[in-house]
Amino acid sequence: MKILFVASEVAPIIKLGGLGDVAGSLPKALEKIGVDVTVIVPYFPFAKTENLRVYKNMELNVPYGGEINPTGVFSTKLPDSNVDVVLLQNSKHFHSYEKTWKVSTKEESELFSFFDRAVVEYIKCEFNTYDLIHCNDWHTGLIMPLLVDELELERPATLFTIHNLMYQGKGSVEIVRDVGIVPGEHPIIDFDIADGDLNMIQQGISSADFVNTVSPTYMKEILTGEFGGELADVLDARVGRTQGILNGLDYSSFPRTYDEKTWITEKPRIKKALLEKLGLDTDAERPLFAFVGRLDPYQKGIDLVHQIIPHMLQKGANLVLLGTGDTEWQDKLLALSNDARYSPYFSAQILFDKDLAEQIYAGSDFLLVPSKYEPCGLIQMIAMWYGSLPIVRATGGLKDSVEEGINGFLFDKYSAQDLIDVVDRAFSTYYGRDMAKMVSNAMMSDFSWDKSALQYKELYKKVIQLRIDST
Ligand code: ADP
Repeated sequence: MKILFVASEVAPIIKLGGLGDVAGSLPKALEKIGVDVTVIVPYFPFAKTENLRVYKNMELNVPYGGEINPTGVFSTKLPDSNVDVVLLQNSKHFHSYEKTWKVSTKEESELFSFFDRAVVEYIKCEFNTYDLIHCNDWHTGLIMPLLVDELELERPATLFTIHNLMYQGKGSVEIVRDVGIVPGEHPIIDFDIADGDLNMIQQGISSADFVNTVSPTYMKEILTGEFGGELADVLDARVGRTQGILNGLDYSSFPRTYDEKTWITEKPRIKKALLEKLGLDTDAERPLFAFVGRLDPYQKGIDLVHQIIPHMLQKGANLVLLGTGDTEWQDKLLALSNDARYSPYFSAQILFDKDLAEQIYAGSDFLLVPSKYEPCGLIQMIAMWYGSLPIVRATGGLKDSVEEGINGFLFDKYSAQDLIDVVDRAFSTYYGRDMAKMVSNAMMSDFSWDKSALQYKELYKKVIQLRIDST
């Protein structure tokens, strides 16, 4: 089974967000179970290749925008593995890309439509030897129609994974012509561009042989208008060809100095050092709650956290928040942490700091994840690994990974009162007898990639068979 894994990023070579972590971890886990997988990404100028051997293999002539675009094909390996990584280099299209874009602008859609065409040219140059093309997120949405045009019945099977439906890659109608899609051959594209723009994720969803998301619950949720928006119907039309597979966590990226037997002495020591560093009250009777993540008011539930801070602190909690993002929310949180009533118990750290994040996971008792939606979420898995009990909203991958009263806490409704109620349950646990058992359970929960890789292997087999059956 030969798989081409297509993505906009792959950690640690090109890391922009969570997708890069998946692209850097899942192929390694697949390799361990005998799947031959190659990752292909754009060769952005900020790619970190210093410690890698990178070879130039060949040059592709990629037709795009009425021109032939020479595109270098470089190859390397994912660190600590035998997984091949192909880097496509084109100075015209890939050199202007800024790390900060990542918002699916029109320019980005154009850039990635070029990438899609280049990937299809690469597949052709490799004599069409891949059994399945695994496309990820909107950046890869035009690969499927292009494969149909270029390879017709000979085309490989295709799987399209949605990592976050909010980012859709809306581009101009001209992209369809520039990328070289045969006019009139794709009714779904004609339907899509009738409103004046092209939606790349919609194309991926509609045209792949199979669609999956990064958790079973998120797969169900995006079939509803609340989570799926205007794409709910597009997804609904694919039911029967959809699945959810929970992402894994690469535990080797998260070192810890204790395990499920030794945490009981180690964690209090780390907690005390953390509280001293943050200048918070060191009374061990106070449970330490934490929030770590992007301050995105549309996703991460930061408004709920802000609303309940006075209640939590009055009830006897300490709280540390680590995050960056929306400037308005940064200011609001800083204002609370500077308020003399709250400053002994609440610290807002407005920065991105991996070491501090790890110290917070290790030193805290509870981690708040009150997201509005969460396709998978890694933070709750990381928290459990460090023995900090996650308090999560029952949505997406949070619902699929946390069990109430076993390894964490769940609440349903997106409301401050419901968050207060669940936080109160956490307080009772902290002062009661169940805390130690729950922490041990959380630390022993297994979210390794090995499990998810087995499910992907089975899915690849199934999709390849579906493709064979349809020809
Ligand atoms: P998302 O991908 O939606 O941002 P995840 O829960 O999947 O959310 O992953 C978030 C990752 O980013 C975690 O590894 C978390 O530790 C890290 N992270 C987020 N914000 C910060 C920050 N301010 N400092 C350090 N690490 C952070």
